[in-house]
Amino acid sequence: MKYQLETIPVWDAVENHADSCIICGLMEDSLQRKVSYYLGNSVMNPETRLQVNHRGFCPEHYGMLSEEKKPQSLALMSHTRLQETVRHLQPLIRQLGSSKTPRGVRKLAKQLEAAAAQREVGCLICDALQDDLNRYEFTLVHLWGSDSEFVEAFSKSGGVCLHHLPSLVEMAPEGLSGESLREFCGYLSSQMEAWLAKAIDEVQWQTQMYKSESAGKDWRGCQEAHKRAVRREIGRARIHDQG
Ligand SMILES: [Zn+2]
Ligand SMILES: [Zn+2]
Repeated sequence: MKYQLETIPVWDAVENHADSCIICGLMEDSLQRKVSYYLGNSVMNPETRLQVNHRGFCPEHYGMLSEEKKPQSLALMSHTRLQETVRHLQPLIRQLGSSKTPRGVRKLAKQLEAAAAQREVGCLICDALQDDLNRYEFTLVHLWGSDSEFVEAFSKSGGVCLHHLPSLVEMAPEGLSGESLREFCGYLSSQMEAWLAKAIDEVQWQTQMYKSESAGKDWRGCQEAHKRAVRREIGRARIHDQG
């Protein structure tokens, strides 16, 4: 499958993320754009409101929207969204009021659980993030195969985190083959090994620095090594709903 190329943002990310995953950087920007979009003028668009009512947002992203300082937009959106939710759940909520037996209550609990879970399936923001992720990773692979300056810049960048490694590897054969595919995978492998070793060294040094005998020693920039270690494993601006 071919995707639209996004050369400029991918080049920017490679040049601006020397110590962290470049795909995380791209996805954080992407997430911010989607959040702004759904809390912006799009709330007045009937088509968008219908999509919000039916597909909606995953719990992570719906919660994120509610934390932004856009109460009017979220109030408008959640007004119609909640009316749709009521249509789905009200019959079960009413039944709960007339449940008498333990067996009946347990059965209703299962039905409520399924109906509530159904409302949480699907996410407009996750869908849009997945489209961007595909385009960014396709572009990265394409640039590796066609631009030697990019190969050098990517080699000096922060590379990718463990969370983004599998999807990037999966994308590699879409744009590379033969020697360039082998070189790309070889680079990703050595880059990941080096990063993991560095992260382990850094948190180990951080733990040493909390000991009394380390007083006055150089932190070597490891005061926040624990945060970098966690982010190297789990990434940032993740896609939560794959459905
Ligand atoms: Zn990442
Ligand atoms: Zn989501």
